[in-house]
Amino acid sequence: MDPITPVKQLAKFGFSLAASQFGEHNRSSSEAKLWVLMYHRILPKNDSRFALEEPGMVVTPEVFAMHLREAKKLFELVSLSDWLAKADSGQALPAKACAITFDDGWLDNYQYALPILQEQQVPATLFAVADKVGTPFRFWPNIVSELIAVKSVALQKHPLLAEAAKQIELPYSVERVAGCIAQLKAHTEDEVFAALESIDWSTELVTTAPALMDWHQLTALQHSGLVEIGSHTCTHRRLNRGLDASLVEYEISTSKAKLEKHLGKNIDLFCFPNGDYNSDVLQRVEQTYQAAVTTRGGINRVGNLHRHELLRIALHNDASDTPTKFRARLSGWR
Ligand SMILES: [Zn+2]
Repeated sequence: MDPITPVKQLAKFGFSLAASQFGEHNRSSSEAKLWVLMYHRILPKNDSRFALEEPGMVVTPEVFAMHLREAKKLFELVSLSDWLAKADSGQALPAKACAITFDDGWLDNYQYALPILQEQQVPATLFAVADKVGTPFRFWPNIVSELIAVKSVALQKHPLLAEAAKQIELPYSVERVAGCIAQLKAHTEDEVFAALESIDWSTELVTTAPALMDWHQLTALQHSGLVEIGSHTCTHRRLNRGLDASLVEYEISTSKAKLEKHLGKNIDLFCFPNGDYNSDVLQRVEQTYQAAVTTRGGINRVGNLHRHELLRIALHNDASDTPTKFRARLSGWR
């Protein structure tokens, strides 16, 4: 066994403990601050969908419920739009507020997160991908992960998928697959999907239940009175990749119009896919939405608020499965 490992683990634990105790969430302050927590999927460990998901994408229902209990001890839990509206009108804000967000509109959010939000009466914001609601759409990282899991030799047919093809020779590892997915992000969504279509990926995989919510489920979230819906574009294209202006317009403005039509409510919040944008995209989002969230880590301060570039704290299971680790993440130290 590598003798460094226990030392490293101890150092990590020490850092975690210090961050959990001395981070800003534990300090009093006169300036109102907003923590925005970022979640993707909520899945039990024994759910078959858990095994093939990137570790950074999932939190179990038990860990999510623990996060909410812990957050209630430290913060006032608020809805993002309520907090922003109060900040705008100069109303008193809690010294430390926390808003919960979910990206993508996964069906598991409806199955596992909604009952926990209801039980603990916690508000949240969910960012939906307008064209994909109620469709059998699968995000390409999931398709690549599953093709590797079934050791599909079809991956060898397209050079863009070469790194993924190498994985089928090895035992499946979520970490290595996550590495492949990170490499593939050098290409645009359209390029990766074109490569996957060219190898006829859908014939390689068994059909699974839809991964995303349908309009009834999304409406039920909204009707719970706890969940507000924001836009996460029409198709989840990353918006920093030299897309032509009409596509940028489609992703930013048409997604708002479609969600408003289906949900009968104003859609005022936006979430950048993969946290990617450039200055033109930011300007368009500023003109279209009241606020937007990024994937950049940190804590938002009312005195220096970049409302279309709100910072978030990413939560995933392994990095936050104890109250100490969760509080360490809230420190914003990493
Ligand atoms: Zn997303």
